[in-house]
Amino acid sequence: MAPVLIASLPRSLATCVRYGQGKSKICWSLSSRPIGAIGIRYKSTPAAASLVNENAAVDTASQDDKDKDPLDLTFCDYRNAFKSKTNFELLRGLLVFHLCTIKPLVENNAKLMKLGQKVLGKRLFAALMKATFYGHFVAGEDQITIQPTLERLRSFGVKSILDYSVEEDLSSEDAEEREMESCLPSSEREEEERGCESKAEGSNAMERYTPQRKFADRRQQVSGARTYFYVNEAQCEKNMETFINCIDAVSDATHGTGFAAIKMTALGRPQLLMQLSEVIARTRQYFQQVTGKTGPIIRSDVNTDVFEKRFREENILTDNLDVKKWLDSMTYDKKGLIHLFSWSGLIDTNILLGDLFRVPNLNSGQMEPLISALTREEEEMFKNMMRRLHTIFQYAQERDVRVMVDAEQTYFQPAISRLTLEMMKKYNQEKAIVFNTYQCYLKETFNNLSLDLEQAYRQNFYFGAKLVRGAYMEQERARAEELGYEDPINPSFDATTNMYHQCLEESLRRIKMNKNVGDSHKIAIMVASHNEDTVRYTVNKMAEFGIHPLDRVICFGQLLGMCDHISLPLGQAGYSVYKYVPYGPVNEVLPYLSRRATENSSILVKLQKEKSLLLQEMWRRIKKGHLVYHPKGNYVPVGAQ
Ligand SMILES: Cc1cc2nc3c(=O)[nH]c(=O)nc-3n(C[C@H](O)[C@H](O)[C@H](O)COP(=O)(O)OP(=O)(O)OC[C@H]3O[C@@H](n4cnc5c(N)ncnc54)[C@H](O)[C@@H]3O)c2cc1C
Repeated sequence: MAPVLIASLPRSLATCVRYGQGKSKICWSLSSRPIGAIGIRYKSTPAAASLVNENAAVDTASQDDKDKDPLDLTFCDYRNAFKSKTNFELLRGLLVFHLCTIKPLVENNAKLMKLGQKVLGKRLFAALMKATFYGHFVAGEDQITIQPTLERLRSFGVKSILDYSVEEDLSSEDAEEREMESCLPSSEREEEERGCESKAEGSNAMERYTPQRKFADRRQQVSGARTYFYVNEAQCEKNMETFINCIDAVSDATHGTGFAAIKMTALGRPQLLMQLSEVIARTRQYFQQVTGKTGPIIRSDVNTDVFEKRFREENILTDNLDVKKWLDSMTYDKKGLIHLFSWSGLIDTNILLGDLFRVPNLNSGQMEPLISALTREEEEMFKNMMRRLHTIFQYAQERDVRVMVDAEQTYFQPAISRLTLEMMKKYNQEKAIVFNTYQCYLKETFNNLSLDLEQAYRQNFYFGAKLVRGAYMEQERARAEELGYEDPINPSFDATTNMYHQCLEESLRRIKMNKNVGDSHKIAIMVASHNEDTVRYTVNKMAEFGIHPLDRVICFGQLLGMCDHISLPLGQAGYSVYKYVPYGPVNEVLPYLSRRATENSSILVKLQKEKSLLLQEMWRRIKKGHLVYHPKGNYVPVGAQ
């Protein structure tokens, strides 16, 4: 398009046109819309035409495309974005976002909510919250009352990830006590009680995998994620029940199209996740010590012969029964080693952690543990945690519901990710039921994701993943600095974004590779981000790799009440898009609401855009006389008139 013509267009439209230039696989077609008039239509593109020839399934998909709206990649199409909203909801959204910009209100929101509860009483306070924050960010109290919200989202092409968002409102002191109690191994708990120095000092433990009182309240500096603190095994059983109920809710309320979200720290003693994470780090060190290879085990092309050779050099008898047994239990295929230990054995059998994680010492030849000694009770707790995970995934499989395992702090995450991958191997044989999460703010994420994709390929299971930037940045950095280990976070926002793009491209490359051999559904990725550039990047890369929205292998995820101007147009354009939908009784989801207020106040640029779009839509409706009050007491959404 000639520059002079672009200059004469409205600003958002001009951006849209410029954006489209040179993108050969995307068709930018004009429609009659007043804004966002230019959008992606796969159906009519040369790329899509070749897709149609390539694959009959896509042909059906392109038939469905006829009903889809074009996608405005500037995300300024307020009319389409808020088509699903009633006038009241528009007003409420504006009010809520405005309140999020008032600093004293946000800073003191938790205290103010408690005061509100006291002064107004629980019922009146609940009514006030329903008319404001709760109504905007939470779908309802239970799986029945959330139905209308889910239905409405679905009618606009948006599916749901259900999250029962009831959280305990703990004081910081209580959270600290619980965390220290549940993260220290029992031997060190006794020492702490006697007033001795904490574990790491004077011992050779890797300090980053030890609990730290200063960081024990894991909620500090975190507004994007919810935190579970361990109480006891009975509470973990209750949490499991909650997740099971959530799976039921997904199955019933979303007709199986949704996801359930879980957190592993809700299902067992966090100390065990910390110790397992430490074992993973120690295993890498041991592998390097024996083989001299610095890269990841799965890519090293090493087999057990390399170990036997080294053991012989060190005069460690490989016919020693223990050493032989250890060598035999490694996980490998014809390409070489995958893991030094049998992780699938660990999640499936009654083997004890202390028995599994032992390696031959290169000096003494004796088998020695990589994990600090665990009591019988702690071993039992680990088995409980595995049983709970199996119960959840088995149930999810029976009800055909997909489950996302959230990513958490780096001192738990290696264990969470490894256990999730092993669960994937077990439950993702026919389709992707278990999904892992990858935090792209971590320096090692690209490596980890590509290794896990490689494992899924070699062990032939379905791979499901959610890509996020990461919710614990400030906390992670402060902890690394305090304890003197390398900052695990990428040095800048741009570096995080680059890593996000790399992870996405690697996934798309593999999806394309699978597609070429007729196995296109082996990998499913959710791009969970509120960042418009990331969504744009994904949409363009999908087109570049020939991945059609209706292939349903790439989807998008945003929170309910945030970035509707991204989610709704994506859904209406035929992309697979999900809202993270929290639910729970008003007076029990206050910590969740508190975090939403804080998070929104920290993303003022995004907030201003959403506010401005809401205002423009409100103004459009006023001008058109569409502020209609329905006799039954509800404002009617404009789209319904
Ligand atoms: C559906 C959904 C599910 C989620 N699940 C999880 C989960 O399981 N685990 C989890 O940890 N988070 C999760 N999150 C939160 C997510 O990780 C982000 O915190 C949040 O979405 C903000 O990132 P963004 O891409 O949306 O927005 P943006 O504003 O584009 O990105 C903000 C993020 O960029 C990164 N960043 C900012 N500044 C820097 C810097 N200087 N250096 C390096 N990185 C920087 C941080 O991660 C920050 O949170 C989820 C989010 C969504 C929408």
